[in-house]
Amino acid sequence: MGSKQEAKPHVVCVPIPAQGHINPMLKLAKILHSKGFLVTFVNTEFNHQRLLNARGSSALDGLPSFRFETIPDGMPPPENPDATQNVYSICKSTQETCLEPFKRLIAKLNGSFSPVTCIVSDLLMGFTLDAAKELDIPEFVFWTGGAGSLVCYDQYPNLVEKGFMPLKDPTYVTNGYLDTVVDCIPNMDGIRLRDIPPFIRTVNPGDEFMVEFTNSQVQKAKTASGIIFNSFHELENDILSTLASTFPPCYGVGPLHLLENKIDDKSLASIGSNLWKEEAECLTWLDSKPPSSVIYVNFGSIAVMTSQQLVEFSWGLANSNHPFLWIMRPGMVSGESTQLPPEFLKETSGRGMLVGWCPQEQVLNHQSIRGFLTHCGWNSTIESISSGVPMICWPFFSDQLTNCWLSCRKWGVAMEIENDVKRDEVEKLVIELMSNDKGKEMRKNAVDWKNKANEACTFPSGSSVVNLEKMIHQLQVGKY
Ligand code: UDP
Repeated sequence: MGSKQEAKPHVVCVPIPAQGHINPMLKLAKILHSKGFLVTFVNTEFNHQRLLNARGSSALDGLPSFRFETIPDGMPPPENPDATQNVYSICKSTQETCLEPFKRLIAKLNGSFSPVTCIVSDLLMGFTLDAAKELDIPEFVFWTGGAGSLVCYDQYPNLVEKGFMPLKDPTYVTNGYLDTVVDCIPNMDGIRLRDIPPFIRTVNPGDEFMVEFTNSQVQKAKTASGIIFNSFHELENDILSTLASTFPPCYGVGPLHLLENKIDDKSLASIGSNLWKEEAECLTWLDSKPPSSVIYVNFGSIAVMTSQQLVEFSWGLANSNHPFLWIMRPGMVSGESTQLPPEFLKETSGRGMLVGWCPQEQVLNHQSIRGFLTHCGWNSTIESISSGVPMICWPFFSDQLTNCWLSCRKWGVAMEIENDVKRDEVEKLVIELMSNDKGKEMRKNAVDWKNKANEACTFPSGSSVVNLEKMIHQLQVGKY
């Protein structure tokens, strides 16, 4: 290795091993590389293998200045190698087992590649902060959700003090109590208990661990040198300012895919992060549809629905009479009867396209897409907003509930399906989104946000561009 390369800053990027976290971390890593950093991107061994399976053996070759490394996740191999790993188990296992392999990796990189000058890690991989502290390396944490969900997590001690949480009684889910307005979360006026990430509600078995885990990771993040968000100031300015009073410097540098698209050097363009094989033929199918005519349906990488919910969604889409592109990830439906009704397939033949996984950013930017039925994962939400596509939300868990509330109540770009999904409601909302005045209004708002997102990512003075430069300066000089 030449001396020129040794003089470059070297960032180690560590996502939590889930699709919605790997994607934005890879984009951030590519952006840092384009700004002159050497990059080491750390996947778990399990996901590294999945990426190779989905993308081919050369997909993770990288470059001499952008390399992939792995650490074990500490979990036993799942029976199905394409299975999404359980969120609770992943959080527990990485927390318990990854510190030592991570420290060994840093030592290896220091000795054989280039000294590690900074770490950018997912906020939920808090063990990296222990390593950073011990090895005296500055670390920035990356919150891959929106600022709105982080402020909810951060307020957990306050919610406990005010008696809102924990909710020990499962009947709260059905007795209307969750509609109680929570008045103590800054800049989230009108938010209800039901809109707060359920991890911190403590109702379901396993939630106790997630309460303790998320709370401890969020508090630990306050010891980092800075917090990075895949969001932009125009969208969440008030909330980011609130967070800046209790957290280290907060940098909204999103939407990251817009900045990634501006990278001149295309040498990393072929490196992707989809754990499932993309079925690009859906783009050809979209080409055959009239402009602004198709509803796109995708529930992300983790949400699992019951076969009854699948049937209700099917008939809701069929009865709306609009063309649809529906992404059915393998394993998206629980239980044994995961088949779509044959009458549904017959009735929607030619009007509906079903595939297992798609290139979502391209789909959302396709001219034939008019609306998005989504689970409201943060990436899907920000990708939809920055494509000017309004949404119907069916939040499943975690920050998705908060993202849904923000999209519906604050940003005016979405409407929500009740948890207990019914075909008539799906049909009604799809028609409203695709053909009625309410949909028109939401589309107008979404296009406004799209323009603002583009401005935020415009050189030289867009808010995300400026924040990125500040953040990079901070990463280069070390601790703040
Ligand atoms: N995604 C994709 N193709 C699909 C489904 C999802 O490329 O068919 C991408 C999507 O663009 C997003 C990520 O996977 O970047 C999903 O993240 P999100 O936060 O929306 O949801 P999660 O999967 O974490 O629930």
